[in-house]
Amino acid sequence: MLSSLFRRKPVPAAPASSNGATSGTPVHSTDLEPRTLEIGRELLSLARANQAGLLSKQFWQDKLMNWSMKDPQFKIQLFRFVDTFPALRDPDAVHEHLVDYLSQPGLTLPPGLSLGLAAGGLAKGLLTRTVTSQIQTMAANFIAGTDAISALPVLRNRWDRSIAFSVDLLGEACVSQLEVDEYRRRYLDLVETLPARVAAFPPSALLETDHLGPVPRTNVSIKISALSAKTDPIDFEGSLNQTLESILPILLSAKKHGVLVNFDMEHHALKDLTLELFMRCCERVDFHAGIAMQAYLRSGDADAKRIIDWSRRTGRIVTVRLVKGAYWDFETIHADQQGWPCPVWAAKRDTDACFERMSASFIAALPTSAGQGGTKLALGSHNLRSIAASLAQLQARGLPPAAIELQMLHGMADALKSVAVDRSLRLREYVPVGQMIPGMAYLVRRLLENTSNESWLRAGFLDDASESTLLASPHAAATPDTTPAARARRHQLTPLTLNVPGVDLPFSSEPLRDFSDAAQRAAFAAAIATTTLPDVPISATPADADRALATAAELFPTFRHSDPAARARVLLRAANLLRAQRDALSALIVRENGKNWRNADADVAEAIDFCDYYARTALDLFTPRRLGRYTGELNEVLHEPRGVCVVIPPWNFPLAIAAGMVAAALVTGNTVILKPAEQTPAIARRLVDLLHTALAAENLPVAAVQFLPGQGETVGAYLVRDPRVSVIAFTGSRDVGLDILAAAAPQSPFSPGFSAPAELKHVVCEMGGKNAIIVDTSADLDEAVLGVRDSAFGFSGQKCSACSRVIVVGNLHDAFLARLVESSRTLVVGDPTHPGTDLGPVIDAAAADKILHYIHLGQSEGKPELAVLRPDLGKRYIGPHIFSAIQPHHRLFTDEIFGPVLSVVRATDFAHALALANQSPYKLTGGVYSRKPAHLALARKLFSVGNLYLNRPITGALVARQPFGGFGLSGAGTKAGGADYLRHFTHARVVTENTMRRGFAPED
Ligand SMILES: Cc1cc2nc3c(=O)[nH]c(=O)nc-3n(C[C@H](O)[C@H](O)[C@H](O)COP(=O)(O)OP(=O)(O)OC[C@H]3O[C@@H](n4cnc5c(N)ncnc54)[C@H](O)[C@@H]3O)c2cc1C
Repeated sequence: MLSSLFRRKPVPAAPASSNGATSGTPVHSTDLEPRTLEIGRELLSLARANQAGLLSKQFWQDKLMNWSMKDPQFKIQLFRFVDTFPALRDPDAVHEHLVDYLSQPGLTLPPGLSLGLAAGGLAKGLLTRTVTSQIQTMAANFIAGTDAISALPVLRNRWDRSIAFSVDLLGEACVSQLEVDEYRRRYLDLVETLPARVAAFPPSALLETDHLGPVPRTNVSIKISALSAKTDPIDFEGSLNQTLESILPILLSAKKHGVLVNFDMEHHALKDLTLELFMRCCERVDFHAGIAMQAYLRSGDADAKRIIDWSRRTGRIVTVRLVKGAYWDFETIHADQQGWPCPVWAAKRDTDACFERMSASFIAALPTSAGQGGTKLALGSHNLRSIAASLAQLQARGLPPAAIELQMLHGMADALKSVAVDRSLRLREYVPVGQMIPGMAYLVRRLLENTSNESWLRAGFLDDASESTLLASPHAAATPDTTPAARARRHQLTPLTLNVPGVDLPFSSEPLRDFSDAAQRAAFAAAIATTTLPDVPISATPADADRALATAAELFPTFRHSDPAARARVLLRAANLLRAQRDALSALIVRENGKNWRNADADVAEAIDFCDYYARTALDLFTPRRLGRYTGELNEVLHEPRGVCVVIPPWNFPLAIAAGMVAAALVTGNTVILKPAEQTPAIARRLVDLLHTALAAENLPVAAVQFLPGQGETVGAYLVRDPRVSVIAFTGSRDVGLDILAAAAPQSPFSPGFSAPAELKHVVCEMGGKNAIIVDTSADLDEAVLGVRDSAFGFSGQKCSACSRVIVVGNLHDAFLARLVESSRTLVVGDPTHPGTDLGPVIDAAAADKILHYIHLGQSEGKPELAVLRPDLGKRYIGPHIFSAIQPHHRLFTDEIFGPVLSVVRATDFAHALALANQSPYKLTGGVYSRKPAHLALARKLFSVGNLYLNRPITGALVARQPFGGFGLSGAGTKAGGADYLRHFTHARVVTENTMRRGFAPED
């Protein structure tokens, strides 16, 4: 039976109705507005009349949900607790965490809850049981069973109510091949067994036919991130091929069993990969294919065009599930954090408008006969305005309601579902099945969606918004992308045109390359292909050092008086030159020191940040600052350069650290001698070249920065001992650092032959680390595994911030270790010029020997859990190594290794874990993965390191955001990239003037 919605008169002369069907121009016209409203009103009034038995109403009325919507602070703490809940093993842990979350400062609890929270004994048990059962009920509301078989009664119940299904396996990112294999097995199982099980359901013409013919009864939704442990767009082709191979068996089986497989759409970073993969899969296997497409993306219209053009070109019919998108908050925050243009619309109505435009495009592309290519359309929405607009477009094209499918989520919008069924519209429920832990991300997304102020469903059925509000047209000029794009634009402009005294533009980090963007990927690949490594010999001798020192000392008395603004402009110019050569510099780093693409790119971005940031902080520092207000007395603090500065950077951040130390010394008016690391002179040479260009452009002497590529043992040792040197900026190993500190110290006046130095040398010294991450019992294991893996093995563990000890609390140890090992096994060791490589060669043969020595030692001290070597490529290709059963007295626990070797240690409880972590004399970085607020607070207080990271990896400190540096044996306490760093390159002087003359003084 046709719905009454379609028995009305056709839309009068909508221009698109004449061309939409034939030429494919989308049926999107303001002429459809009256019809859209008419359909919308009808659906809305029916749904509102229908809401008596609404499941979702109960959900919203639930006390906790209701309070969450009133109080955003409470919502955050409650949802955090819900997210942690499945990891909690017993009622005591549930109670402890609940009390902890709900006792956070500034939180107002709903009446009654505070009493329950404070009480112990019986009330404690009652509270725990009540909350546990509420969460389980919420989860059961959205999740139909633990697997397809247990969900069968739900599927049958829906089918009998004229609702079809798409089954989804809960769980998202897989961190290892084992997990991928398990997901693929479960998907295959679904595809193979479900059709037979649902064959017993009675036939339904409504659900099993569209305007072209039969529609598969079994419909399964898959996520590509669950089907490959390496879905990283940086290696687009590699990820594509790997995922394709993984998915193919499912598709072949789906074809055999007549199952429709829908590719869900996940984060924006995976969008292009998902689309391309989908199209290639369709070209390989002739299965019933569907794909979700998101209207909240600014690229929505272009994405729709792309898939439509492809389907027409190939003659392939596919079903598009048009949704708005489930990750809006994530995408917005992520883009903001990265300084990238935001991929999603900023205003809800823009998403709604894009949904209607995309729907119009797809409806225009609906095939009208089975022989044609084109896109069939399913609407994944609970918004009656959005649905009504599509129905109006369909009607205008003269197609029957069977040509479109409505899809809604299990556990939501029952009133709307009833209306759809009443009106004989084909309706499908998206039915997730699975366990609570992998299901939590889905559940939290649903909770956020349901309680969002922007939710149409909430406005329509909880807040009782007016009909005109609910059905209002979203079409208007799109809201511009403000903050992130403005930031990105500012980066393109940061600029030579800048009037430096106006460098009051706030500092913002240089955005990293977005490797999910094809253009950025291609530019980077081209730079790698065209960059060769120049020969920069390590040739300087102590005699050269002597001459360089003479030049620097001679220049200093004039250079010290150069205009601080001109020096700041030098750094801004240098930042711009770095930006202009950005990919070429990264390529040089890849070739010279073996970093992979991402690490090399981050190195260059950090160098830019140092220049930009120190230019700004120097201007501030060199502006005399008045101290206090005293009539008749002027007190000012002034800063002035110290003298000749020797910079000795390491090879592991060959551009960033060198640039940071040289920039700091230069901008504060010192003359600088840069002695590069022996392993990476070429990149240092480029840095000096561009600093010379920048100095010359400001009419400052280029000799203010001298390049002295010599051996550390000879030239370095000579430089640091020379009395003409006032500052030494060093980053490197503990042994060399301690030697420099000793060499820089003045002689004791009581030693024979003592002669007093003209100046005490100041040493800015950053050394190594033996960094630990604690994984607490309540940790999010997905995050902890990836965070530890990346912190330990990123750039082969050759970062002073790298994790080399992971301390796991209590009985989580075995589960964590097993996942960590399997996840680390997926890392690719190989040629760093290839985008899919995770670990390139370690820096040189000597480093390889040292690392291999510790690997050998680990075999006797602990239990080898993972050992990846690539002897076929050479001894420098050392992959991840993990040792368990390491004890605090073992050398693997105490020694800095500077390679991809990770020790796993057991702790009895959190306090024990902290004690173990603090046992090292190095105090550089540390991390904690925990979802217990009290433990995070304890770590803040007691975890004794220079940079502590909570619930994130421990490497990748950003200038100004995470000023970097440690204490103990890790360094002298300076914080690179921090507000106070430049002070180390200056003397502070205070000038006091008596401003009173004959009893009068200037007014303040
Ligand atoms: C059957 C089905 C399958 C689904 N599959 C997927 C999938 O594969 N991938 C996926 O991402 N989602 C998927 N979803 C989830 C879907 O994206 C959300 O349920 C949907 O966005 C809610 O939209 P609505 O039209 O029902 O509600 P509305 O309340 O009209 O819209 C809410 C949506 O608007 C957007 N929004 C909210 N605030 C703003 C803002 N300030 N600016 C711009 N936009 C904003 C967000 O997308 C939000 O979800 C699916 C949904 C269904 C029903």
